[in-house]
Formats: sequence, C-alpha cells, structure tokens
Amino acid sequence: MKLQEYQSKRIFAEYGIPIPQGDVATTPEEARHIAARLGKRVVIKSQVLVGGRGKAGGIKLAASASEAEAVASQILGMDIKGLKVNRVLVDEAADISREIYLGIVVDRGAGSLVMMASAEGGVDIEEVARTTPEKIYRVEIDPCLGLQTFQCRQLASDIGLETDLMNDFVKVSMGLYQAFAGCDASLAEINPLVVTGDRKLLAVDGKMVLDDNALFRHTDLAELRDPTEETFYENEARRYGLSYVRLDGCIGCMVNGAGLAMETMDIIKLYGGEPANFLDIGGGARADKVAAALRIILSDGNVCAILINIFGGITRGDEVARGILQAFEEVKPAVPIVTRLVGTNSEEGLRILAGAKMLTAGSLVEAAQMAVQASRGEAL
Ligand code: GDP
Ligand code: MN
Repeated sequence: MKLQEYQSKRIFAEYGIPIPQGDVATTPEEARHIAARLGKRVVIKSQVLVGGRGKAGGIKLAASASEAEAVASQILGMDIKGLKVNRVLVDEAADISREIYLGIVVDRGAGSLVMMASAEGGVDIEEVARTTPEKIYRVEIDPCLGLQTFQCRQLASDIGLETDLMNDFVKVSMGLYQAFAGCDASLAEINPLVVTGDRKLLAVDGKMVLDDNALFRHTDLAELRDPTEETFYENEARRYGLSYVRLDGCIGCMVNGAGLAMETMDIIKLYGGEPANFLDIGGGARADKVAAALRIILSDGNVCAILINIFGGITRGDEVARGILQAFEEVKPAVPIVTRLVGTNSEEGLRILAGAKMLTAGSLVEAAQMAVQASRGEAL
C-alpha cells in the first residue's frame, strides 16, 4: 500500500525527521486559509500516488495566500499520469541550497534492507540511477543489528556532506530506518532531503510503501488507505481477493495458484512472449471470482491475448468454465483466449468451453505456444 506524501511525512515527523509545516486542502479556499495561517511563501503540492509530480506541473510555489488559492485551483482537478488530483499539500516553502536522495528498500539479492544516498537528489534521481549508478551509495543493514550510526556517517561522507550536518544526517537516517521498521514498510524514501539556506536538513518530499501482508499489525495505518486513489485493477483485485500484479507484456494470464502462475509466466517467456500480469485466482475460486479476474485482465489495454491455465484440485473446472462465460456476458473480449484446463471436473469444463467455441489446449506447452502465436496476430 502506497502512502501519500503528506501521510509519509507525518510518519517521518513522528520519528524525529524535520518536515516543513503545512496541511492538506481539498479546495482552493482551504489552501488560502492554510497559506494565510503559515504566513509565508508556500509550495502547493498535488497529492497523487505517482512520482515526477514536479515535472508534470503538479508542484508550484505561491508567494501569498491569494496566489496560493489561485495555484491550488489550477492543480486541484489536474490529471497527473492518469490520476486526478483531489488533494494538495500546502507546505511552507523551503529555502533549498542542496538536494540529497535518501532511501531504504528491501534488497532481495543481498537478503537485507539497503539504505541508499546520493548527492544528486531531486527530480532526476532515476536518470542518475540509470546513467551514473556509481553516484548512489549503499549500505546493507544487518537484519539482526539494524542500521548502525557508523553506517550513516559512512553514507554522509560518501555523498560529501559537510561535517556540521553530520549529526543531523545521522538523526534523519536513523529516523527513516526506524519509521521503515516500525511501520513494516517495503520502501521509505526522502527525495529530496534538502540542506536549507540556514544549514538544516529538511525532508521536503516523502514516500512510503507499506507491506500489505503486515497491515493487520497496524490498524491505524491500514485506515490510511484511500480506494479513490487506487487504480481500478488494485481495487477490483482486493475486492475479490485476487493476487494481481500488472506487468509490461501483452499476454494476460489467469491461473489458480501462485506457483502455477509463476510457471505460466516462465513458459510464456520460454516461447518468446511477455506476460501482461501475474494473476492468482486462488484455490476453490467460484464463477464470480473468475469473472472479476477476466474483467481486470480485459480492461488492460496492453493485453493482446489471454492464457487461462487451470489445474483443478479444490478449484472445479466446470465452475471456472462457467465463470469465463459469465464474464463474457459483461465484457466482450476482443482478443484471442486460450484455455488449458485439467483436473477436477475438467471434462465438464471443457465441454462447456467447447460449446461456446473457446480455444482449448491439451497441454501447458501447447497452450503457451498458442498464446504466443495469437499475441503476434498469427492465426491459430
Ligand atoms: P516529485 O516531483 O513528485 O518528486 O515531488 P517533490 O516534492 O520531490 O518536488 C519536486 C521538486 O520541486 C523538488 O526536487 C524541489 O526542487 C522542488 N520543490 C519542492 N518543494 C519545494 C520548496 O518548498 N521550495 C522550493 N524552492 N522548491 C521545492
Ligand atoms: Mn521527489
């Protein structure tokens, strides 16, 4: 679950990280009131769950309360990378002399958390990561010991931070680590962490992603979820209890079981295709769940073929087949669909599919080859 900037920064503040004063507004009038209360130059920041808001025109300075109102009315309702802006954060503007990147992620390769820092923070950090990755310094955090202060000092010296800021940097990086650990996050990031004109550190932007599987331990954080800010896919998948991850390819996959879903993606790649998603409908899925899964896949404009791979155990083949036909009553698929169905009640399921003139395959290899062929627009 992604948190908005203002939510992330409020959490950071609880862990002792300095953030600008400010508040959230949903109307231009509210923005004016907040700016008037702050009584100084402000920055109006769109609150949407994507990066690169600055470059998209979603972050603007305002010198007075009335200008804050005008700027907020421009930004509210704006479309940023497909997301509508419903809220803005009105923060006191920072006097920025330097922008640093500081973040923590899970590094599966290293089997630990990694803290990263760069002197080249700000809106071009992705470009830095791509072209000059050596400018991003890393320390691995021992899972038993946690982040150590010497590691923070190491990072500070790597990025050439002046010694007068050393203690503040240790405080901020320790705070970020404690926020990460305390919230069961999978990512916590400050970009930029700025050095102000009067030589203080300030977290100007904040981003946190929380581990959904740990949210049951944080009922207060779980309440921060705002379904209106999530995509159709995420909402639908949660509603029907489907595990869904969108990917870049064009072959949509619907599979029962996480391991089988991984195998299905592997075999698609083996035959030269690219999966559009990971989708596990789970064990014992009934028709309505299958229909929801198909709706999700079919609403992804990149999908040019679909592979349905069902291994019937607890899940019954006839239920899945009925779910597929039920989904077709709601959404007419414009792309070829190949189904491989084996196991419990598969004969009945295949009979239902054959009755609806659906493409079926006898084995997973055959199904994958057919799906890849279909995705290239070749006749089957
Ligand atoms: P992002 O584009 O979504 O990452 O949003 P950020 O909050 O990181 O803002 C983007 C950029 O806007 C920052 O890197 C800063 O250069 C600039 N910016 C953000 N807040 C302020 C501020 O208070 N004062 C000034 N002068 N610039 C700001
Ligand atoms: Mn940023």
